[in-house]
Amino acid sequence: MSSRRKFLSDCGIIAGGAGFSYFGLSHYSLADKNKKSGKSSGLTLRYKPYELHMKHVFTVAEGSRSATPVMLTEIEYDNIIGYGEASMPPYLGENYETATAFLSKVDLTRFESPFLMEDILIYIDSIAPGNFAAKASIDIALHDLTGKIMKQPWYRIWGLDPSKTPNTSFTIGIDKPDVVRVKVREAMPYKILKVKLGKGNDKETIETVRSETDKPLCVDVNQGWTDKAMALDMVHWLKEKGVVFVEQPMSKTSFDDTAWLTQNSPLPIMADEAFQTIKDFTKVHGAYSGVNIKLMKCGGLHAAYAMIKMARALDMKVMIGCMTETSCAVTAAAQLSPLVDWADLDGNLLIDNDVYEGLTIIDGKITLPDSPGIGIRLRDK
Ligand code: MG
Repeated sequence: MSSRRKFLSDCGIIAGGAGFSYFGLSHYSLADKNKKSGKSSGLTLRYKPYELHMKHVFTVAEGSRSATPVMLTEIEYDNIIGYGEASMPPYLGENYETATAFLSKVDLTRFESPFLMEDILIYIDSIAPGNFAAKASIDIALHDLTGKIMKQPWYRIWGLDPSKTPNTSFTIGIDKPDVVRVKVREAMPYKILKVKLGKGNDKETIETVRSETDKPLCVDVNQGWTDKAMALDMVHWLKEKGVVFVEQPMSKTSFDDTAWLTQNSPLPIMADEAFQTIKDFTKVHGAYSGVNIKLMKCGGLHAAYAMIKMARALDMKVMIGCMTETSCAVTAAAQLSPLVDWADLDGNLLIDNDVYEGLTIIDGKITLPDSPGIGIRLRDK
């Protein structure tokens, strides 16, 4: 037994076979408590903290990290288990304590069926403001569960063509030129690279990447530029270097300067930090060309689907992104990827202790499993 499988087994994550699992630890939900007290419940929630380890120390304009805390969730109904996940990079403000506090308040015993998804998610949203990653962990598990009961993957339930999935970009973090060169070589299987900028050596970084590859690039500045005229000069220069869009060039609060940049830019300007939930369309529409939708920012698949529809109604570009996540949340997001212009779904590729198997990348393209729900199973190694 590998060390990871032994760890998971010890934690109760692997048990029962046939892809089912059980958290045998002390973290259990109100639903479990109610069950023990004799109150009937069809839906049982379980959750457990887990730490993802990055293959490389990951540096962006906002800082560096080598690990990311996640909360793994399960919702069980009629002996079928749906998997979910909350990923909580520190800059979003959620952590094990906040997720535990939130999930401990969730009482799914009040619902007779997981198909009451509208009612369940309105209830989840009403428990507390914020906590979008914790909310996403419920939303994803519910989608997985209901898809499994219907025996269909969610892309099919939504009526999406799995052949229309985009290539995923692969992220190159900020680093010394020698390290950047190694990372670009490691990214050989990917057709588009997302290069992190915003630390002051942007041209050197792009030239270093270009010394290794002529693939299309996109760049993510993570709010790193402070002057709009300099930003416009950089965008023109980046276009000459084969960049296809620029993500979050300036501060998330600089709407006027960003609107000026977008109006004058030869490349699409995408909102990430400036855009979280559907309410933010009132701020980003007119200031940005498009939005980066992430399940952990908006609360899950239900909200993300509505946001894609809203973006299209407003004639805006759409990309779907992720945090550092296991294949659970990444494969869930990938179910929506036939609807988007660009996908940045590489969070599971940046870690070395994934718990699940799900989407695969074949010749750079997102390939959705023909499996029910969100399409994942526990990793068997
Ligand atoms: Mg970003």
